[in-house]
Amino acid sequence: MDLVRSTRRTFLSWTNCLLAGSGMTELLAADSKLMPGEDYYEKLGVAKIVNAAGTYTALTASIMPPPVQAAVARAAKSPVRLAELQNAAGEYIARLLHCEAALVTDGAASALTLGTAACITRANKQAVHNIPIDLAGLRNEVIVQKAHRYDYDHAIRNCGARFVEVETLDQYASAFNDRTVMTHFFNAAEGGRIGREEWIRGAHAHGVPCFNDAAADVPPISNLWNYTGMGFDLVTFSGGKGIRGPQNAGLLLGKKELIAAAALNNSPISDTVGRGMKVAKEQIVGMVAALDWFLSQSDASMETEFRRIAERIAAQLKGIPTLESNIAIPDTAANAVPHLLIRYDQARVKISPGAVMTELRRGSPSIELNPATGKVRQGGLPSDENTIVVGVWMLQPGEEAIVARRLREVLSKAAAA
Ligand SMILES: *Cc1c(COP(=O)(O)O)cnc(C)c1O
Repeated sequence: MDLVRSTRRTFLSWTNCLLAGSGMTELLAADSKLMPGEDYYEKLGVAKIVNAAGTYTALTASIMPPPVQAAVARAAKSPVRLAELQNAAGEYIARLLHCEAALVTDGAASALTLGTAACITRANKQAVHNIPIDLAGLRNEVIVQKAHRYDYDHAIRNCGARFVEVETLDQYASAFNDRTVMTHFFNAAEGGRIGREEWIRGAHAHGVPCFNDAAADVPPISNLWNYTGMGFDLVTFSGGKGIRGPQNAGLLLGKKELIAAAALNNSPISDTVGRGMKVAKEQIVGMVAALDWFLSQSDASMETEFRRIAERIAAQLKGIPTLESNIAIPDTAANAVPHLLIRYDQARVKISPGAVMTELRRGSPSIELNPATGKVRQGGLPSDENTIVVGVWMLQPGEEAIVARRLREVLSKAAAA
């Protein structure tokens, strides 16, 4: 964080001087010339963007902090024995996060597949090679709340599992049978009547392991041990979201026996569902280094930092007619950090938030705003048709000045029209 902070401070002193004028793009270009290595984005003609959205996979999620980038670059210089690295990283992470065992996976979606494969194949080595098609003699029903069905179901279905949906506790209790292999919980779900503790109790009453997908659910930092501590047998977090590790890394945390079974379904073992989900040495090291970095932060300091960035942008928008701004934290478990919400009267400032989003995307540098922009209550934010949402937490040092300048340009022009 020191490195990030001091970079931010230096950069800000430049950007503050420049806020009124242009030259920001030139400054960023000059900055990137100082970096080692060829600029392959430039060589390939790929636009670098300003991420004022958040940890979205399609926007490459997060940027690793400088100490994590350095650890990755260093790990790239030496071959090691992959199994030794996987085991050592797992043991280190389990100690750090107060759980029995851990596996670095190729993202949270891969952890869902490997965790499910572990439940289906445990104590049955042949089954590892038979799933997802030959399920003879294997349990494959996963119980889930109807409101917890989501886009990541496929990661679980990859193992040959099928879902059994329930809504009430009674339905939950009677859904267990001799084909039940696992129960699944979507931690950031906005619906669902059964809470975490009741859900775990129900599964354990039937001796069935219970998985919690908390992929996007840090901060708070303590969530990294809250859910395993609560009794979930398997928990996943994405490595490349709030933890700011490599985008293709993730964590599978949980019971020793299940993590060992997950590893048997994973690369480098070739005849497995996980073989295509290889995590390279750079990403394993990056995941561990990102956790070291993330645990050196505090929830309060991160929140203060994100609020300060949001306030700096809001301050630059003062004087635009009818414009009001406030800072909100989503009321779901995912992405629970301060976001900047900017509202205005479209009769006076004649542009829709969606059109502002497009303008910023088309500009230089290209800026991506949060997808809740112009949408009613999305991602747990109090947004609506008249709201621009700026996700501030993935902005790089000084980029808030760029976002503020572009917003001011586009909104002022629309107010004068
Ligand atoms: C992002 C996300 C995932 C997938 O995470 P990756 O690390 O990109 O594989 C899975 N589940 C939920 C709820 C997510 O938000």
